[in-house]
Amino acid sequence: MTAVIVGAGQAGAQTAAALRREGYAEPVVLIGAEPELPYQRPPLSKSFLEGDEAALPLRAKSFYADNGIELVTGERVTAIDREGRTVGFGDGRRLGWERLVLATGARPRRLGIPGEELAGVCMLRDLADAREIRSRMAATEAVVIIGGGFIGLELAAAFSGRAEVVVFEATDRLMGRAVTADMSAHFARAHAESGVVLRFAHLAAEFIGRDGRVTGVRTTDGRTFPADLVVIGAGVLPRDELARDCGLAADNGILVDATLRTCDPAVFAIGDCARFPSARTGSSVRLESVQNALDQGQHVAKQITSGIVGEYRSLPWFWSHQSDLKLQIAGLADGHDRTHLIGDPGEGKFSVLAFRRGELVAVESLNRPSDHMAARRLLAAGRTVPFDEATKPGFDLRAYQRRTQPS
Ligand SMILES: Cc1cc2nc3c(=O)[nH]c(=O)nc-3n(C[C@H](O)[C@H](O)[C@H](O)COP(=O)(O)OP(=O)(O)OC[C@H]3O[C@@H](n4cnc5c(N)ncnc54)[C@H](O)[C@@H]3O)c2cc1C
Repeated sequence: MTAVIVGAGQAGAQTAAALRREGYAEPVVLIGAEPELPYQRPPLSKSFLEGDEAALPLRAKSFYADNGIELVTGERVTAIDREGRTVGFGDGRRLGWERLVLATGARPRRLGIPGEELAGVCMLRDLADAREIRSRMAATEAVVIIGGGFIGLELAAAFSGRAEVVVFEATDRLMGRAVTADMSAHFARAHAESGVVLRFAHLAAEFIGRDGRVTGVRTTDGRTFPADLVVIGAGVLPRDELARDCGLAADNGILVDATLRTCDPAVFAIGDCARFPSARTGSSVRLESVQNALDQGQHVAKQITSGIVGEYRSLPWFWSHQSDLKLQIAGLADGHDRTHLIGDPGEGKFSVLAFRRGELVAVESLNRPSDHMAARRLLAAGRTVPFDEATKPGFDLRAYQRRTQPS
């Protein structure tokens, strides 16, 4: 039973490796559109910009051959034939499969405004994008970053002190899709203190330029901000078109059930491209994180190897490093109705505990890794902290986690 994996990013590469680890003895083909060996993206907005390229590949080239994984790089799958059980390439070649894993990731959202084609207007998703931004860094005097999410703010931190940095955020707070208002407010203060100019409720209307190069950004209220580099970090769109084209259900992501299967039981979808029902929030979610990509790859590999169907239930967790602001998040705060802060915001070391209906659902930790680990252990085990307990004077999350751990 040949297993074909489309997309050789974090999720796809993990699936291939996990299939072998689980003992899958049939052919495994991992197909990626990018020319590089499968690599990790998080450093692209962090250490890579300082010149650290060595840490990027997920595994050495020899790993794939040594483990009987046929790695095909620089080739894009252009069609899926579900009846004939093949994937097709642009030149007409076809490749058969019995199990298909879609791990096609996501693409950055374009703004669709005039001037997006100017040199110096960049996005950041892949290695080529990161190389482009890095090559422009030294000469950049003013950078405008569109989007105050994780990637935009990591870039703001990287440019801070080297160039004038302005961040446009369409809403009224930073990282609004991912963190509580308490954490947003702290990050806004910290970035502003390090010289980053934050413009909330600001929308770019047009990129202006001279001789094909960007020179500034005009906002919808008619103001112009000078820029010799613009980075658009306005979210991503799942690459779900292959799935749609072959009749698989998709709606802002390829729709899968709780076991990560699409409506075709031989086809799975995982990682950034997949939308799945979360047992934790009771809603359908599409997560963009390394943890999600890795755990879903592992989960699918296990099912393919064993043939035993099981629900995906991993605890989501995330991180973002913005210079000395090391943020770690355990759980999903969606729909939280109360928060409680522990630690010392003045010192830049604290955690926000988010509660839904009196129970802990997520913990956002800033420079408090021990809180993060305790939260992961608690929440992954299906345990929680009642609000009344967490708000007792001197509450210590790590001590609570240890004390309540079943022996
Ligand atoms: C700059 C940056 C920083 C990040 N930082 C963090 C972080 O700090 N922490 C964190 O948890 N997450 C971070 N993320 C998110 C994380 O990297 C993603 O969630 C993760 O890479 C998702 O893995 P994936 O395999 O689903 O998708 P991807 O890694 O995007 O891989 C998908 C691959 O599929 C290929 N592909 C698509 N269509 C086809 C096709 N038709 N044929 C062949 N190949 C195809 C694509 O070219 C791509 O290589 C960051 C992302 C970026 C871009």
